Amino acid sequence: MPFTPGGCRDLRKYINDPEVKKAFGKLLTGRSNYIPVEEKPQPKCPNCKIFLSGDEKFCPECGTKLQQEKTNQ
Ligand SMILES: [Zn+2]
Repeated sequence: MPFTPGGCRDLRKYINDPEVKKAFGKLLTGRSNYIPVEEKPQPKCPNCKIFLSGDEKFCPECGTKLQQEKTNQ
């Protein structure tokens, strides 16, 4: 079967579409609001300022209760 460039779908043209980025982010992370190319500010403990993954309910360092920023999902 010969390779026909015109018959291949070139997905690169979609790479700048923000909806595609969201879709890829959802595929990669299961989070619908995750956009892989946009850096989100990393959550920090308000008390001791260590960096957190964002999933903690309490700071593992100082035990401060953390505010969970809830999104739609
Ligand atoms: Zn802390």
